[in-house]
Amino acid sequence: MTDMLSKFFVPGPTWVRPEILAEMTRPMIGHRSGEFKEMFRALLLDVKSLFLTQQHAYVVTSSGTGLLEGALINCVPRRVLVTTCGAFSERWLDIAQKLGIEADKLEHEWGKPIDPQRLADHFRGRRHHYDAVTLTHNETSTGVLNDLETLAQVVHDESKDTLVLVDAVSSLGAAPLRFDDWKLDVCLASTQKGLALPPGLTVVAVSDRALDCAAKKPYRGTYFDFLDLEAQAKKDGPPFTPSIPHCYALAKQLEHILREETLERRWARHRVMRDLTLERTSRYGDPMVDREHASVSVSAIAPKGGKSAPDVVLSMKKKGYVLGSGYGDWKETSFRIGHMGDISVESLTAMLDVLDEVAG
Ligand code: PLP
Repeated sequence: MTDMLSKFFVPGPTWVRPEILAEMTRPMIGHRSGEFKEMFRALLLDVKSLFLTQQHAYVVTSSGTGLLEGALINCVPRRVLVTTCGAFSERWLDIAQKLGIEADKLEHEWGKPIDPQRLADHFRGRRHHYDAVTLTHNETSTGVLNDLETLAQVVHDESKDTLVLVDAVSSLGAAPLRFDDWKLDVCLASTQKGLALPPGLTVVAVSDRALDCAAKKPYRGTYFDFLDLEAQAKKDGPPFTPSIPHCYALAKQLEHILREETLERRWARHRVMRDLTLERTSRYGDPMVDREHASVSVSAIAPKGGKSAPDVVLSMKKKGYVLGSGYGDWKETSFRIGHMGDISVESLTAMLDVLDEVAG
């Protein structure tokens, strides 16, 4: 795998290999044709392997936010608990409120992980039943990787019939995630982050429990109706016209992730990239997150010695490298390095050499 051209280090969309882009230029076929169905059947099997699930998986033409909404519409008849630790985990709350769902928030400071003990305590002191809890595996705004396995276990220990809805937008394909073993109910990821595809597609795993819940709901909307997605998946297709170029690209990319690189090696490469980033930037930058919870896909760094974070981003741009700015309130104080997807250790090292000159 070569990524000679990778100078693009924003935390999504991320750099896409030329061979994946080339896949998107293949001729069009009908999405109800035998040829498409054959591809889509194999694609859904590979998506299940990616999530490590034997339950249900779908590929939806939408960015990830669509499926955040879909998860809430299908799985929350009445009330949800939203755990937050940054801008993207907050998005669940915003969507729930817009849908008219009763939502409680368990808020954590930006840069801190979601605390399993606080989650357990919240359940023990709760006044309501929760149909679902939302968890954000990797909070891209701050660079925190939450302990999803433990958090999901807390929910199951405290409430047997509460569903676990997971945003894995910037962790799937970068950090270990085991849908069945961790007893998740809905887990979604758009393809422009750890999967290193252009934006426009979302993969989602759905449990039997979540489908049962959806079946009892009288209204599930149209575009993200899990029962429709399931019925059509059984016929090897999506309910609506998909982005066929993205499907070609995802099929090719999953071939690479699952059978060439392998999930274990991909997760290990991301750990190496996180460690390298934190080690190399430590001379001139402070990480915004404790080492124990530092994300494997994105690092937020605050320059030391009064250097301006936006200036660092600008100076890198002049040298041909695109980094991410700090998010929201962190915009002035930090910059973010996306080290995910198909970015190699070699290209990250080359970028960090230049960053040494700019920020050091
Ligand atoms: N959740 C997380 C953790 C994200 O990082 C993002 C985008 O950056 C989203 C949700 C929104 O995803 P999308 O832009 O694909 O709708």
